[in-house]
Amino acid sequence: LGPAMCAAWEAIEAVTVVAMEGMCIGGDLFGDGKMFLPQVVKSARVMKQAVGYLQPFIEDEKQQGAQSNGKILLATVKGDVHDIGKNIVGVVLQCNNFEVIDLGVMVQAENILQTAVREQVDVIGLSGLITPSLDEMVHVASEMERQQLNVPLLIGGATTSKAHTAVKIDPNYQRNQTVYVADASRAVGVATQLLSEENRGGFILDIQQEYQKVRERTANRKPRGKNLSYQQARESGLKLDWQNYQPPVPNILGLQVFNDYPLERLLNTIDWTPFFISWDLVGKFPKILDDKVIGKAATSLYNDAKNMLEKLIDERLVRASGVVGLWPANSVDDDDIEVYTDESRGQVLARVHHIRQQTRKNGGHGPLVSLADYIAPKNSGVNDYIGGFAVTAGKGVEDLAQAYKEQGDDYNSILVKALADRLAESFAEHMHRRVRKEFWGYAAEEDLDNEPLIKESYRGIRPAPGYPACPDHTEKATLFSLLQATQNAGIALTESFAMIPAASVSGWYFAHPDARYINTGKIQRDQLESLAERKGLAVNDMERWLTPVLGYKT
Ligand code: SAH
Repeated sequence: LGPAMCAAWEAIEAVTVVAMEGMCIGGDLFGDGKMFLPQVVKSARVMKQAVGYLQPFIEDEKQQGAQSNGKILLATVKGDVHDIGKNIVGVVLQCNNFEVIDLGVMVQAENILQTAVREQVDVIGLSGLITPSLDEMVHVASEMERQQLNVPLLIGGATTSKAHTAVKIDPNYQRNQTVYVADASRAVGVATQLLSEENRGGFILDIQQEYQKVRERTANRKPRGKNLSYQQARESGLKLDWQNYQPPVPNILGLQVFNDYPLERLLNTIDWTPFFISWDLVGKFPKILDDKVIGKAATSLYNDAKNMLEKLIDERLVRASGVVGLWPANSVDDDDIEVYTDESRGQVLARVHHIRQQTRKNGGHGPLVSLADYIAPKNSGVNDYIGGFAVTAGKGVEDLAQAYKEQGDDYNSILVKALADRLAESFAEHMHRRVRKEFWGYAAEEDLDNEPLIKESYRGIRPAPGYPACPDHTEKATLFSLLQATQNAGIALTESFAMIPAASVSGWYFAHPDARYINTGKIQRDQLESLAERKGLAVNDMERWLTPVLGYKT
C-alpha cells in the first residue's frame, strides 16, 4: 500500500470505528438517561464534521452505507412549519446510525409518498405543530393506504397525540403500523423495534392492543358535562356591567409599524423555561440550572444560548419586526366583534368571529364565555376598543440555520431557531407591555419584573388564534388583513394559517380587567352552522378547520 492508500484506510477506520462508536455510545447513554438531548445533538457535530473532512478519502460507497440501521423519511406536513422537534429527532436518529432523509417543512403528501417509494425508505415520520396538520396527517395516511405503501408511519409534534393517532390516523392506514412518538427521546426506540426482525411482531401487537383500547375508551366516553343549545349558551354568556365601566381610550389608534426592532430591548423579557423544554429538559428556569440530574446539561446549553444570542445581536444576524393595531370596536350578535375604521364607528373595517363555550361542567353554574363578552355590545352605547399584533424575530434565521446545517453543525442550527422563537415570544411580551403602558395606556403606572410578566399577572390578555380561547385558525386571515401584517411585518400565512417565518407570534388585545384565557371546549353542530354562515364558509369546510373542537360526529 502506498502512503496515500494508508491515509485513506486510516480515514475510513477513523470514521467507521472511532466516530461511529462514539456516536453509538452517545445514543446508548441517551437511551439510559445518562446523556441529554443537547449533548447528543452537540456530539453529532463532531461526527458529521469528521465524516465531512474524511469523505474524500472514502471511495467505497458500500463501506459508507454499511452501518445504517435503516432509512427514515422525515417531513413536516403541508401548511405547517414545525421544525425544531423534527430536526432534533433527525439528528438523534442519525446518531443511532439511521439514515435520515429530511424533506423539511410544508411538504405535500405526494412528495412524501414519491420520495418514500423512490428512496425505498423503511419508515416515514410526519410532524406538525398546528391543529390543521392533524387532518393533513390523516390525508397522508389515507394516501399511503391507497398507493399501497407498506412501511411504518411515525407521528409526532405538539398538536399530535396518542388518541388522535389511534382514532383518526391508524384506521386509515392498515397496510403497516402507525405509531405516535411522544418525544424526541423515544424516536430511536420506536424505530429500532419496528425494524427489528425479532421484536417487530410483539411490538406491533402491543401497539395495536393499546390503540384498540384507546379507540374503545373514546367511543364509550360519557360527556363530562351538559351540552347546551347554542341559543341557550348565548343567553348564558358573561354579562359584564357595561353601565358602570368606562373602557380606556387608546392614546394612539390605528397601526404602528416597528421595523428592525432593537433585539437588545427584548433580552430581559425572555421566558427561558420553554427554551429548555424544546430540548427535552423540563424544569423551571432558573432553578433548572441547579437541578441534580439535568442541571449540568441545562447550564451548558444556557451558556451556549447566551453566547449565540450575543452573536446574533452583535453581528445583526437576525432581525425583528412587528405591527400593532388599536381600533374602536363593539361586540354584535353576542359572538362577533365589529372593528371600526375610526371613532365615528360608521364604517366596519372587519368583523371578527368568536366561539362560545357550549358545555357546562356537571354541577356547574357559571357563564358560558366567548371572547366577545369582553367587548362592550354595540347596543349598550358604550364605546369600546380592541387591539391586534403580529411580531417576528425570524428574519435571517432560515439562512443562518441552513448555513450551520451545511457545515454539519445541527446543534447551532437548532439553537438559532429555538432562540428566534424565544425572541419572538419576548417581542410579544414586550409589545404587550408597551401597549398597556403607552399605546393603549390603561396601565401607565405598571412596573413589573419578568417573573410576573411570565405569569401574566397584569390587566388584559393577548389570546392567539388557534389556541383554546379562539381555536379557529382561519381568523388569522382577518387579523392579518387588519394589521396588513405581511406588508408591515413581513409575516405570511400558509394555507393552514401557520405563520412564516416560524419565529412569529400574533394575537388580539383585550383590555377588560376580567378578560381571561378561556378554553372554548367542544362545540355542537348548531354553533358550527352559525359560525359557517357568519363567516360565509361551507359547513363541511368549517368543520374541517374546527375538527379538534367538534363535540359531535361528522
Ligand atoms: N412566556 C411564554 C408566553 C407564550 S404562552 C413564552 O415565552 O413562551 C402564553 C401565550 O399563549 C399567551 O400570551 C397567549 O398569546 C397564548 N395563549 C395561552 N393560552 C391561551 C388561550 N387559552 N387562548 C388563546 N391564547 C392563549
